[in-house]
Amino acid sequence: MRTGVLSPFLVPLIETRELMSSQLVNSVQSAHRPHLQAFSPFGPGPTPGTISAFHILLRTSGLILNKAPMLDIAQTVKQQADIVKVIEGYIRLRKAGAQNYTGLCPFHKEKSPSFSVHAVRQFYHCFGCGVSGDVFSFVGKIENVSFPEAVRIVAGKCGIPLPKREFSSPEEAAGARLRGKLLDLHETATAWFQEQLQGPEGAVAREYLAGRGLTPEGIKTFRIGYAPDSFNALRDRLSGMADQETLRASGLFASKEQGDGTQGPIYDRFRKRVVFPICNESGRVIAFTARTLETGEKAGAKYINSPETPLYSKGQVLFNLDKARSAIRQLEFALLVEGQMDCISVFLRGIQNVIATSGTAFTEQQVALLRRHTSQVVVNFDPDAAGSNAAEKSIALLTEEGFTIKIVTLDGGLDPDRYIRERGVEAYTAALRGSRRQSDYLIERARLTFPGASSEQKVKAMNYLLPHIRRLPEKLARDQFAADAAQKLGIDSAVLREELRQAALKRRDHVETRTTALTEVERVLLRALAIDDPEFEQTRRLAIEALAQQPAWFEHLGAFAALQALADRQSRDPMEVVEDEAQRALLAEALLAETKPPEESEVQSAIQEIHERAIESRQRDLRALIAEAERRGDFAELAVLTQQKLEMDRTLRQLHNRKPPER
Ligand SMILES: [Zn+2]
Repeated sequence: MRTGVLSPFLVPLIETRELMSSQLVNSVQSAHRPHLQAFSPFGPGPTPGTISAFHILLRTSGLILNKAPMLDIAQTVKQQADIVKVIEGYIRLRKAGAQNYTGLCPFHKEKSPSFSVHAVRQFYHCFGCGVSGDVFSFVGKIENVSFPEAVRIVAGKCGIPLPKREFSSPEEAAGARLRGKLLDLHETATAWFQEQLQGPEGAVAREYLAGRGLTPEGIKTFRIGYAPDSFNALRDRLSGMADQETLRASGLFASKEQGDGTQGPIYDRFRKRVVFPICNESGRVIAFTARTLETGEKAGAKYINSPETPLYSKGQVLFNLDKARSAIRQLEFALLVEGQMDCISVFLRGIQNVIATSGTAFTEQQVALLRRHTSQVVVNFDPDAAGSNAAEKSIALLTEEGFTIKIVTLDGGLDPDRYIRERGVEAYTAALRGSRRQSDYLIERARLTFPGASSEQKVKAMNYLLPHIRRLPEKLARDQFAADAAQKLGIDSAVLREELRQAALKRRDHVETRTTALTEVERVLLRALAIDDPEFEQTRRLAIEALAQQPAWFEHLGAFAALQALADRQSRDPMEVVEDEAQRALLAEALLAETKPPEESEVQSAIQEIHERAIESRQRDLRALIAEAERRGDFAELAVLTQQKLEMDRTLRQLHNRKPPER
C-alpha cells in the first residue's frame, strides 16, 4: 500500500459496519452511567473528560475521503486520524501536558504509566519498554495485524471509507476472506436463531428465558436465540452462502468420523438449545454457547460451545467485553463473574461493567485484554468448591499481573444471577460495595480450610497463604498481607513469623528500564531538527548547517544517528525518518518533554557547546600525543603537536569570549 502497488488480493470492506454496531451499544450505555458510579468498591474516580468511541465517531464522521489514489490512502488516513482518540479506544489515557497524554503501556507490564502519546506530533512512545511509532504501528501491534490491515482499521475507526482491501500475500488474503465469510455466517446464524426464538417452536425457550427473568428487550440486547430440534435446519439456511469446507470451518456444524477416517456429512451442532452469541471486542458474533432445554438422559451437556475456529479461541475472549468496556473505563474497574447467564443478568440490571470468563480460569491473553481497560477487578464467582478453585487460579494470575483485586462472596451461597433476581439490584450493589480485599478473602479461606488453633493447622494455613503473598508484585502489599495473616491466624511463633517476613521480602520486583538520559544539548538539537513550523525554519536551518559543516563535532553524542537522520529529513515526519528503535526512543523523549520549539539563541549556544566539547576532546588527545612524543624524544613531532595545542587553546578562549557574560 505504501508503495502504491495495487495488490490483486481484494475483498470488500467489513470494518465500518462492525464499528457502527459497537458504537451504538456504547451510546446506549452512556445513558446509565451516573447511577453506576455509586457502587465502586475502589472509591470515587471516573476520569473526567474521557472520550468514548462514540464521540470519536461523531467528531470524525464528517470526514469523507475523496477519490484518493491508493498510494495516498495511508497518508490521508494518518492526517485525519487522531492518534490520541484511536489509542483511547484501547487503553485509558490521561492528559499529562499541553501536548501529551500518558497511560499504562499495553505492550509491557507496569503499574505506573510510562506510555506517552504526543497529540500534536501524533506518535506514541513508552519510556518503559522503548516501543514507539505512529497510529498504524500502534494498531498493528495491539491488534497483531499487518500494516495494510492497520490502515484499514484506523480508517474504519475514523469513518474514512476505503474502496478495497489489500493484502501482502495470497495466504493473508485467503485467511481474511475466510474470516470475513465466517463472520457473515455467524451474523446470519444469529439472526436466524433470533427468528426461531420468536417462532412456535421457540415457545419452550421463551418460557425458559422468562423464567430466568429475561425481558424481551434483554433478549434483544444480547441477541439470544433458539436452535430448533433439527439436524439440518441451520445447514439448509446457510448452505447457499458458503461451500462445505467453509461451513465446516465455522464450528456451527458437527460431523462424525467415518470408517475410512474421513469426516462424514455435516449436521447442526446446536439443537433444541437456547443460543447465546459470543462477540469479539468489536461486537461481532464469533461463536455461540448453547444451553440445553432437555432434561434427563437426552439432555447431554448443560452447555455446549463453539469449538476453536479461525474466528474464535476460547482463551482469548472475554464474554461481554464489547458491551462492558466503556462502563469499565468509566467506573475504573471490571466486575468478573463466571457464567454468561450471570453476566447477562447483572448487565441487564444496569451494572454494565460486567464480564465473564465462561466458567474457566483466566488465561494470560484474557488478562492482557482486560488490562487495556482497567487494572482493578471485583471478582464474583460461584461460592461452590469448583468455583473457588477457578476463582483462585484467576485471582493468582491477575495478582501476578499487578491487578488490584477485591472479592465478593454472596451470602446464601447464591450465584450472581439468582442473587440479583431474588434480592434485587440494590442488595447486589451493596454486596459489591462490601467486597473484601483479596488478602482478607484468602486469610478467611485459610481459616475455614484449616480450622482450629493447633500449631499444625496454623502451619498448613500459612503454607496455603505463602504462595499468594509471594505473588504480589509490591513489597508494601506483601508486608501488609503477611502482617494481617500473622495477626488473624494468631501466629505467635517467631519461626513462622520469620517465614512470613521472608515471603514478603522475596518476590522479585519489576525493574523498569528507562531510556538513557539525553543531555540538554541533545534535546535542543533534536527539537530544533524536528521543527515543522515554517515560522521557525531559520532555527532548524541553523542546526542542519552545523551538522553538515562539522559532523565530527557531533559524533560522540548518544543521539548522533537520530540527529543525522533528522538533518536529512526535509519535510518528512521526524519520527518516521529515525529508523533505529533506540534512536527513535531518544527523539520521542525529547519531543514529549517539549512545549514549544527551541529559540534560535538556544540552538546557537548548543552548537557552541558542542564545538567547545569537540575542542576539549581534541585538546585531551593532543596532551596524550604530546606526552607520548616527549617520552620518545621526538622533538619535531612535539613542536607540531604543541603548535596545534596552542591553536586549540586560542580557539577555545575565543569561543568563551563570544559567550554573553555570565552573572
Ligand atoms: Zn511499554
